[in-house]
Amino acid sequence: MYRLIDGKEVSNYIKSKVREEITALGEKGIKSTLAVIIVGDDPASRVYVNNKKRACEATGIVSREYALPEETSEAELLALINELNDDKEVNGILCQLPLPRHIDEKKVIDAISPEKDVDVFSEINVGKMWVGDYDVASCTPKGVIELLDYYGIPLEGKNCVIIGRSNIVGKPMASLLLEKNATVTICHSRTDDLSFFTRNADVIVAAVGRKRFVTADMVKEGAVVVDVGINRDDNGKLCGDVDFENVKDKCSYITPVPGGCGPMTIAVLMKNTLAVTKKQNNV
Ligand code: NAD
Repeated sequence: MYRLIDGKEVSNYIKSKVREEITALGEKGIKSTLAVIIVGDDPASRVYVNNKKRACEATGIVSREYALPEETSEAELLALINELNDDKEVNGILCQLPLPRHIDEKKVIDAISPEKDVDVFSEINVGKMWVGDYDVASCTPKGVIELLDYYGIPLEGKNCVIIGRSNIVGKPMASLLLEKNATVTICHSRTDDLSFFTRNADVIVAAVGRKRFVTADMVKEGAVVVDVGINRDDNGKLCGDVDFENVKDKCSYITPVPGGCGPMTIAVLMKNTLAVTKKQNNV
């Protein structure tokens, strides 16, 4: 019998802990502010930004939104980021991706001061994660670790297979699993015989972006399956990368979509904003 990993429960728990600390900081006269930049009117980005705002309200973090028109130039965006980097009232900065094509995302990400980079996308913060010397970790992968920790799922010595090698999920996921002393394999679009790896995995983290990509025959009996994917099925309903209905009975633990990894990303973002605020205030 599988156990469902409840991302809503764990994210609410994390947010309540953040709220306690934000309240305690407030009593010392310290407030925490997150600046969120959104460029253009991509509907999915709008939903994400609204969710982040709601999480700020729930945790007591002040959110400042900068909604810029689609035609904003790269120079204008970089100027705003510089201004926010220098603004002592602002503790964390994030720029919602994707950006319009005429803007170089990498340049923008690396323009955010590492001390305020709560998404942990900048080169410096990614490097710090890999050497194990960091204050904030990439939100989605860290959210996965928080889920596994909450349920007491052991990782040490386990065979963990990540499907996907993106900079925001697959690669940082590998770094955090290694830190937990797991044996880590990263599979990707050029991997030969993907099933060979997944069938031997104690833990599978799927971050592919293809609906129902991980099927029951790819999963070992008793495996832990974490589904990071967010896709739409043919009826427009949200679904993950895992064929949940057919895979679940082979698992010891599995995350649903929605309600698994999704809420965790934002909870960790709140945690990161708290962490940078404390660091900046020497708390
Ligand atoms: P991406 O497109 O950058 O990367 C996808 C990865 O999948 C690539 O590394 C690619 O090599 C791999 N891949 C593609 N086809 C494959 C195949 N046939 N076999 C093996 N590997 C294959 O995507 P991403 O940004 O890493 O996101 C992955 C998924 O996670 C998406 O559905 C995205 O929406 C979701 N996501 C969710 C959250 C969250 O908060 N839950 C956050 C970020 C991304």
